[in-house]
Amino acid sequence: MRVVVIGAGPAGISASIRARRLRAEVLLLERNQVGGVCYNEGPVPVRTLARVARMVRDAGGWSEFGLSGDRPTVDLRVALDRARWAVRYIHDVKCVAEGLRAEDIEVAEGIGPARFIDTHTVAIAGGRTISADRIIVAAENAVLGLDCAYEAAVVPSGSFTDPEYASVGLTESQARATQDCVVARHVYSALTRAVVDNRMDGFCKLIADRRSGTLLGAHVLGEYSAELIQVAAMCMAARMTVLQIAQVQLAYPTFAQAIGLAALKLAREMDLLPRAESLNY
Ligand SMILES: Cc1cc2nc3c(=O)[nH]c(=O)nc-3n(C[C@H](O)[C@H](O)[C@H](O)COP(=O)(O)OP(=O)(O)OC[C@H]3O[C@@H](n4cnc5c(N)ncnc54)[C@H](O)[C@@H]3O)c2cc1C
Repeated sequence: MRVVVIGAGPAGISASIRARRLRAEVLLLERNQVGGVCYNEGPVPVRTLARVARMVRDAGGWSEFGLSGDRPTVDLRVALDRARWAVRYIHDVKCVAEGLRAEDIEVAEGIGPARFIDTHTVAIAGGRTISADRIIVAAENAVLGLDCAYEAAVVPSGSFTDPEYASVGLTESQARATQDCVVARHVYSALTRAVVDNRMDGFCKLIADRRSGTLLGAHVLGEYSAELIQVAAMCMAARMTVLQIAQVQLAYPTFAQAIGLAALKLAREMDLLPRAESLNY
């Protein structure tokens, strides 16, 4: 079977690899550059600029740590150059197009937009037409293979605002509407690493199903929340109980401990732990 995939962002790349593994002959068409918004215009350059903003923000608290000096000013040209450098660097290290070709996927990039002629034919620049048994338009939703388990409830998301926020699974109100659940919070003002870093605004909330003891959702507001939520997502994907999560020895002092400490509170709330084992540290 011959498959044409239009768009080489994350969705098109996944679709191409799946189709190839299902033994299709695959041609991936990209009007600009492989990597899509993800590498070229979205997360990579935008997060590089967010890093600049974070550094300037942190300079606002220098004096509390005994540092002095002028607050930095931003040279936007240099900051944008750095964002472009990050894009180039990611392309150079990841070598996505080469990786796809190594999988026997034909990649045509920089070809301008592909246009449908009919359901089995597209046209690209120069009037060239390409026919295929199947044409996949790769948009925001990644295409998964039939033998791929998709855990719909475990899709972490967040945003790199200040403070950051991130979540996975059900919200507290969604969980309360349908299940008997238990909720616990650990606030950043009682988290050693947040105190050390002077980033004490925030909290980590965990929501667990009382019957099974597994997590239904996790929500974090505060520094590095998008990193913390990965830990919660892994616990959910592994279907760990709150007791198992509470008993994992996490490195001290780290922001990720907020997950363990909130799990400890849940375990205590659910009478799974004797009090002496529930000390917060
Ligand atoms: C500013 C910004 C910041 C973001 N930050 C984050 C973040 O921090 N974390 C996160 O997870 N997500 C973030 N996103 C979202 C993320 O970029 C998208 O979810 C992701 O890129 C979607 O992948 P995709 O493959 O569906 O589409 P895209 O990445 O948009 O890829 C589609 C590809 O198809 C090509 N194409 C389109 N039409 C045609 C055509 N007719 N012919 C040939 N090629 C075509 C495009 O050139 C593009 O390369 C951000 C998005 C933006 C805009």
